[in-house]
Amino acid sequence: MSNFCVIGSGISGATIANLLSKKNSVDLFDKARGPGGRASFKRLDETKGFDHGTQYISPKTLAFKRFLEKLIKKKVLKNWRGKHLFLNKSKKEIKNHKKIIGRKGNNDISKYLLKNIKCNYFHELKKIDYKQKKWFLTFSNGEKKIYNKLILTCPFEQLNKLSKKFIKNSFIKSRVKMDANITVMIVIKKTKSNISSYFFDDQILGWAAKENSKKRFKSNFDLWTLQSTYNWANKKINKNKENKDLNSQLLINHFFKLTGIKKTKVLHSLNHGWKYSSNSNPLKMKSFWDPSINLGVCADWFVGPRLEAGWLSANDLYKKIIK
Ligand SMILES: Cc1cc2nc3c(=O)[nH]c(=O)nc-3n(C[C@H](O)[C@H](O)[C@H](O)COP(=O)(O)OP(=O)(O)OC[C@H]3O[C@@H](n4cnc5c(N)ncnc54)[C@H](O)[C@@H]3O)c2cc1C
Repeated sequence: MSNFCVIGSGISGATIANLLSKKNSVDLFDKARGPGGRASFKRLDETKGFDHGTQYISPKTLAFKRFLEKLIKKKVLKNWRGKHLFLNKSKKEIKNHKKIIGRKGNNDISKYLLKNIKCNYFHELKKIDYKQKKWFLTFSNGEKKIYNKLILTCPFEQLNKLSKKFIKNSFIKSRVKMDANITVMIVIKKTKSNISSYFFDDQILGWAAKENSKKRFKSNFDLWTLQSTYNWANKKINKNKENKDLNSQLLINHFFKLTGIKKTKVLHSLNHGWKYSSNSNPLKMKSFWDPSINLGVCADWFVGPRLEAGWLSANDLYKKIIK
């Protein structure tokens, strides 16, 4: 029985931890306050919450489709029905495009996969060292841990900083450029809009989702998550902290203008900038495993820009480890 440490509780970390835990002891660490990574759920109170990061899952491969179907049967996930509009000139409704979401929030998959695993949140891994066939880990709170085997699932830039000197494979020199995204979550007065989501054909605003339409709670308000386009966010992300109000206002103005929803007072708004949102240029390999030092890496950016990519990468890594 090996003693594994997994860093990251997003889909990649949760999937590999779950697979490994069948025959090994596994501890997981994440710098965040809870599970899910970029499939995150922001709760304001009992009647208000937002998926930010992953909005919905549309499986492309048969294996992932089967995995999601299993979770739908177990009542972890469900279909997100309703009217989804592509708001270009034709205002086309998007049909036959399955949209699967968590029953309570889009971090439900990670929660389900990690339910029997020891997870340590608020633990940011700062430094790794490999000595005498063991991994020595130092966290930002000063804690130190030792493990035989280490799996990293961080976004590419963070992985590079932590582990570059230990990885003898050319993928670490790849130019992985993760796009940014600026997300604004707003609470407004209830309107008559019966639309669940909009895709926009706009330079700034990419997508808006009405959280109420996911039917997780009853709210007396309308809750919208607005996501920028990648192009616009790539230009704005480095100064988003200083320009939060300005950037939020711009996205909100575009939202009212493009949807035609009557402009009302925004009762509450939250701005979240994702510096590393997703990678649209997959690498040649799906994961990395070096058995000579027991170091593994899996993450969405190996495979593509969606949550499914993280799941595929983790499954690929598991096959390499047990080979
Ligand atoms: C705005 C946005 C919208 C998206 N929309 C969709 C969508 O609608 N559908 C879809 O399928 N996908 C979507 N995605 C992509 C999807 O969220 C990701 O592909 C997926 O969540 C990536 O999972 P992961 O486990 O590979 O990485 P992450 O989810 O990023 O997990 C990595 C984890 O590692 C932790 N971590 C990193 N560094 C350290 C460290 N040093 N120490 C400790 N912990 C660390 C992080 O806190 C994080 O929890 C979206 C992403 C964003 C940002």
